[in-house]
Amino acid sequence: MKKIVIIGNSAAGLSALENFRKHDQESQVTVISKEGKLPYSRVLIPYILRKKISYAGIHICPEDYFEKYHAEMICAEVIGIDIEKQTVKTEQTEYPYDELLIATGSYAVSPPIEGINQEGVFHMWTQSDLDHLIPYFDHSKKVCVIGSGFVALQAAWAARYRGLDVVVLELMDRIMPSVLDEEGARLLTEKIREKGVDLRTGVSTQRFEKMDDGTFKIHLAGGEEIEADFVIVGTGVRSNIGFLKDTDIQTERGILVDSHMRTNIPNIYAAGDVAAGPTTFGDEHLIHALWPTACEMGKTAGKNMAGIDFEYEGSLNMNVTEMYGVTVASMGKFYDADADQTYVFDETAGYGYLKICYKDDKVVGACLVGSSDAVKIFGKMRPIIRKKESIECKPEEIFDYINKTTFNEMWRKGL
Ligand SMILES: Cc1cc2nc3c(=O)[nH]c(=O)nc-3n(C[C@H](O)[C@H](O)[C@H](O)COP(=O)(O)OP(=O)(O)OC[C@H]3O[C@@H](n4cnc5c(N)ncnc54)[C@H](O)[C@@H]3O)c2cc1C
Repeated sequence: MKKIVIIGNSAAGLSALENFRKHDQESQVTVISKEGKLPYSRVLIPYILRKKISYAGIHICPEDYFEKYHAEMICAEVIGIDIEKQTVKTEQTEYPYDELLIATGSYAVSPPIEGINQEGVFHMWTQSDLDHLIPYFDHSKKVCVIGSGFVALQAAWAARYRGLDVVVLELMDRIMPSVLDEEGARLLTEKIREKGVDLRTGVSTQRFEKMDDGTFKIHLAGGEEIEADFVIVGTGVRSNIGFLKDTDIQTERGILVDSHMRTNIPNIYAAGDVAAGPTTFGDEHLIHALWPTACEMGKTAGKNMAGIDFEYEGSLNMNVTEMYGVTVASMGKFYDADADQTYVFDETAGYGYLKICYKDDKVVGACLVGSSDAVKIFGKMRPIIRKKESIECKPEEIFDYINKTTFNEMWRKGL
């Protein structure tokens, strides 16, 4: 009987398990995760802080999930892999494998700011972070958020939504470069400020000083000081690959995988945030740290580990969220520099700011700060971008064109 080990019980690990079991009911599967037995979704953390969903709603699987998939769930931290012996090591024991999937995701980074490692300065990345943040959201008046990427601005919005005073400090001169183009960022900045958030760009945070009453004085370059009851740091993530340092598994920012999620070691696969794989646009090794990408990569790994030859078509970045009273979304390549034609809908269309980018007459991406009506098109454009289909209409007619493309036509074209 084959022994399968999956490290990580989140989007990539679970998708792999489910897809593996579609084809293989016999092999022994062990899932190892350092974060508790019952899987949860990080994506839901801001919604719990906003009280849009209950705390218990963070769990994405029923109690009997691992039983249903005939898998043993081990709660432990993996500290190394012995490739020759084919074992996964935890502090307590070793687990032998015939095939291994590494789906360990990423961790939130702490920039080198003095005083960052103390109670009251948090990330918003894990369930444990959420547990620390809840009482602060319930009992504090003011939070300082460091960074202005997707997660940092969701944290700031959750706090503002709950009535806290919020200051956001961003080192760069603009927000969200990996989600919005310059105009989108400018418009969202306006929305954020309209909602009463003190958003400052181009500021360098130097030191977090904890006061006797437990609050913070945040020292900025140039001498200004900001007071806050607690701090949330959202300055990016790194892949969880530290435990691979004594192995020959090839890594850059993440583990390098091919379109089957294979690493350079024959029976070891990687998927999700930890894996740098192929993209729709032909990159060989890129990390798209997104939930759907992790699920797709996990599916690919799971099928291949079960002996099914299944190739990943490549990741396509797509972010969609509601924040500060607007829908913020982007997909694919949405900077002018990556396009040879762009089309921005005018105000009369009623979408807000919606830009579609084309290259060689094919849609390559879009970004939106505006109406939730416009976001419906993103899901429909996704397969078109992936298949590199030409859209035979004027840019301003794209909504009609996509809506008129019937389900049957889409199906016929294999979209
Ligand atoms: C607040 C927040 C909001 C987000 N919002 C969105 C969104 O709106 N849309 C979107 O697409 N994405 C969003 N993301 C990103 C998304 O959550 C990740 O892309 C996704 O969780 C990646 O899944 P994964 O399975 O690769 O890794 P992870 O979810 O990071 O899971 C990694 C797993 O590996 C385990 N693990 C790690 N190291 C070890 C070890 N050494 N030993 C044992 N176990 C280990 C962990 O315990 C965990 O089970 C958000 C993330 C956050 C934090």
